[in-house]
Amino acid sequence: MSMSRKEFIHKTGKGIIAAGAASAASPLLAGCQKSSRSSSGGFRMEIKSKRLDLRHAWTIARNTSTYKEYAFVKLEKDGIYGLGEAAHNVRYGESLESIIAALEKARPILENCDPWKFVDVNAAVQAVCEGQTAAKAAIDIALMDWISKSLGIPLYQFWGLDPKKAPQTTFSIGIDTMEMVKQKVEEAAPYPLLKIKMGKDNDEEILAAVRSVTKKTLRVDANEGWKEKELALRKVEWLAANGVDIVEQPMPSHMLEETAWVKERASIPILADESVKTSADIPRLAEAFDGINIKVDKAGGLQESLRMIWMARSLGLKIMLGCMVSSSLSITAAAHLSPLTDYPDLDGNLLLAKDPFTGVTVRDGWLILPDGAGLGVSGEF
Ligand code: MG
Repeated sequence: MSMSRKEFIHKTGKGIIAAGAASAASPLLAGCQKSSRSSSGGFRMEIKSKRLDLRHAWTIARNTSTYKEYAFVKLEKDGIYGLGEAAHNVRYGESLESIIAALEKARPILENCDPWKFVDVNAAVQAVCEGQTAAKAAIDIALMDWISKSLGIPLYQFWGLDPKKAPQTTFSIGIDTMEMVKQKVEEAAPYPLLKIKMGKDNDEEILAAVRSVTKKTLRVDANEGWKEKELALRKVEWLAANGVDIVEQPMPSHMLEETAWVKERASIPILADESVKTSADIPRLAEAFDGINIKVDKAGGLQESLRMIWMARSLGLKIMLGCMVSSSLSITAAAHLSPLTDYPDLDGNLLLAKDPFTGVTVRDGWLILPDGAGLGVSGEF
């Protein structure tokens, strides 16, 4: 199934170029000069939007939604295509319109690049605009799908990872009426670990509802909901005494000193989510948190997520691998990184009424990575 070394060298050698003129002319095209096969060098890029209806209205401390409408990307070359999904988030200044605009800005890079120089292609895409990381993630997911599909191997194998090391994932319960919280916990019977959203004014009521129907280990995400350090610590210790093993983002993202104060006194790990987007954020967070929640969508792709994993590890931080509410395309892309993480939280696809893609599956909470080439995702673009 996999390609011989000679074929690989032949393949990767194909796109080599007359260097100089193109990169000097435009910093956007650095490392992405036109191949000697002219316009056939880069990808054919397609952008589509899809509406994803949710199974239940999804409420967290910030807002409520009943559906998501995301942009999807297809990158095609040599009869092989890679797919990516831009699971954008208003919290980070993204909308469907801003994502599509960012994808269009990246189009000339992708249409003129040598995909095998995927590190340079990613760097050029990251530089097209500020933020809009979900758009950049969609492109990088499609790029890495194409690369590993072209090599005929699963993406985890390309990175040298053992898919059996993928830990158990959590299943998330959004904020809801107490009857619905109980019903959602009961529907989550196949998942041994639950992540509960809190941070509004009814935390006690939510915990009581959850505990009335299950004894499972819980993880709590406060989504920046507690605004004073004493309150945050009191909540964390109360949760720790009630079978909660991690608390995510107890305080607003900018309150690092206060969060450090809570972390020093807390008896369970405190993880950053809204406080961290990319690797550049990690060093200043290392004192305030025990770990970070990496999301491919907010990191701007798989390559940046991998860099974040190594940086966090070097600082002794734990790693949660999170996601947005999204289809199996984004979730499976993230799942290929899960063997390197401690706390996968890859359930965004399970919250959809109908998933347009299939990929990673969950058995008794364990993530089962598909063994097909690339992401191993199938479904209609
Ligand atoms: Mg979170």
